[in-house]
Formats: sequence, structure tokens, C-alpha cells
Amino acid sequence: EPPPGCPPDVEQLGRATWTFLHTTAAYYPEKPTPNQRANMLMLLRSLPVLYPCTWCAQDFGEDIEKNPPDVSGRVALSKWLCERHNEVNEKLGKVTFNCAKVDERWKDGPPDGRCD
Ligand code: FAD
Repeated sequence: EPPPGCPPDVEQLGRATWTFLHTTAAYYPEKPTPNQRANMLMLLRSLPVLYPCTWCAQDFGEDIEKNPPDVSGRVALSKWLCERHNEVNEKLGKVTFNCAKVDERWKDGPPDGRCD
């Protein structure tokens, strides 16, 4: 972990980016407007072009080509994104995340209320 005030490394950038993406998916509308869908598609499709870890961007681009973004609504998008994150987890030899728990992790918090 770089000292405070230092530019992010690939791990820090990854954590920040997943936090942004999963949180944005968790609050995406259940019934998005055509404009909201188009903008979400642009956000996701911009990552392979702009994400400043070139090998991450390249592999993510290949993955979303095989598994096109499902921007039809909050639940579907959250699941799709969880699966993409799990592809990266597998590639890096990390444990995969149970996608049934994606709302608990990124929106509602655990049932015991410890995050309230
Ligand atoms: P992270 O993987 O950053 O996850 C953060 C938190 O999200 C976890 O603590 C967990 O609570 C939760 N979480 C974990 N999995 C899921 C899931 N499937 N769905 C929902 N929530 C979940 N790093 C590389 O070294 N090589 C790469 O090629 C690479 N590609 C990347 C591509 C993208 C698009 C992004 C955003 C990041 C990429 N990274 C890559 C970074 C990598 O994914 C991790 O962010 C980084 O290794 C830090 O990992 P971490 O263990 O702290 O947790």
C-alpha cells in the first residue's frame, strides 16, 4: 500500500474503481430511461479505452465483448458486474464473490445492522 498522498497503485485503483462501479450499479434505476441506459453503456464501454492499467483494460475489453453489458435494470446490471469482477478475481487467483450478496455488500449492508 503506497503511503498517503502517493499516486494509487493497480490494487488501490482497482478497489476504488470497483467501489464506484458496484455502488453506481446498486443505485441504478430498476427501470432506467433510454438516456440512462445509453450513458451506463458508455461508462462501461469507456473502461477498455481509458482505464489507466493497460493490461486490465485490454482483458476487460475482451471479457465484455464476450459478455455484453446488461443495462436493462438495477438487479441485472449488479449481477452482470459481479460476474465481470469474478472473472478478474479468478484471473488473479482470488476467491470468487457470491453474487447473491451483492446488494448486501454494496447497498443494504449486513442484516445485523453493524453498518447502519
Ligand atoms: P477488489 O477485487 O478490489 O474488491 C473490492 C471489494 O469488492 C472486495 O473486498 C469485496 O468485498 C468486493 N467484491 C469482490 N468481488 C466482488 C464481486 N465479484 N462482485 C461484487 N463485489 C465484489 N488487477 C490486476 O492485477 N490485473 C488485472 O488485470 C486487473 N483488471 C482489473 C479490471 C478492472 C475493470 C478493475 C476495476 C480492476 C482490475 N484489477 C486488476 C484490480 C483488481 O480487480 C483488484 O481491484 C485489486 O487486485 C485489489 O483487490 P482486493 O483484493 O483489494 O479487492
